[in-house]
Amino acid sequence: MARRATIVGSGPNGLAAAVALARAGYEVRVVEASDTPGGGVRTAALTLPGYRHDVCSAVHPAALSSPFFRAFGLDRIDWIVPEASFAHPLDDGRAAVAWRDLDRTVAGLGADGPAWRRIVRPLNRRLAGVADFTGNQLIRVPRHPVTAARFALRMAQAGHDGRAVDAAHIPH
Ligand SMILES: Cc1cc2nc3c(=O)[nH]c(=O)nc-3n(C[C@H](O)[C@H](O)[C@H](O)COP(=O)(O)OP(=O)(O)OC[C@H]3O[C@@H](n4cnc5c(N)ncnc54)[C@H](O)[C@@H]3O)c2cc1C
Repeated sequence: MARRATIVGSGPNGLAAAVALARAGYEVRVVEASDTPGGGVRTAALTLPGYRHDVCSAVHPAALSSPFFRAFGLDRIDWIVPEASFAHPLDDGRAAVAWRDLDRTVAGLGADGPAWRRIVRPLNRRLAGVADFTGNQLIRVPRHPVTAARFALRMAQAGHDGRAVDAAHIPH
């Protein structure tokens, strides 16, 4: 008798689990409470005819280095890569922009640029280790333990979890 698995939720994690289990020989059923699949990464026609919008998530630079995508051959997908990964509006009408070019980002940050460079550049130079650490389950020995330790230390110094730093500067 076939082994069966039920996945609750068709967001990216649910669908990744469904694909992994199907590959492992399970008969998989995905249940979804919403009218459309995709969870936080679904696309919908919300405004004018002909326009489709990302309902939640819109920018996925870390997907380029995703171990899951590599494992399933999805790294052959042609991604549209914007010049600016993300931006954050400031109170005074300016915006901090994370360009894919680190020097350009630093130049735009004014007095804070050198601090951003100090945090990001060492990680930028060890992208394989950073992607391995942040894109994998954490309960295992990282393939690049020194880089993982440095990454964790720098994120602790910067006071956040590092997802934006990792995502912003992965080169094409
Ligand atoms: C506004 C916003 C912007 C974002 N922008 C980005 C971005 O730019 N880049 C990025 O990488 N990430 C972004 N994210 C985060 C990203 O959307 C999430 O990390 C991702 O969607 C999580 O995937 P998931 O499969 O765990 O859960 P979800 O995508 O939330 O999917 C969960 C699914 O389960 C369904 N569900 C829940 N409970 C039940 C139930 N009891 N029965 C049946 N179905 C159920 C839900 O309807 C949903 O479809 C953003 C998130 C938000 C909210």
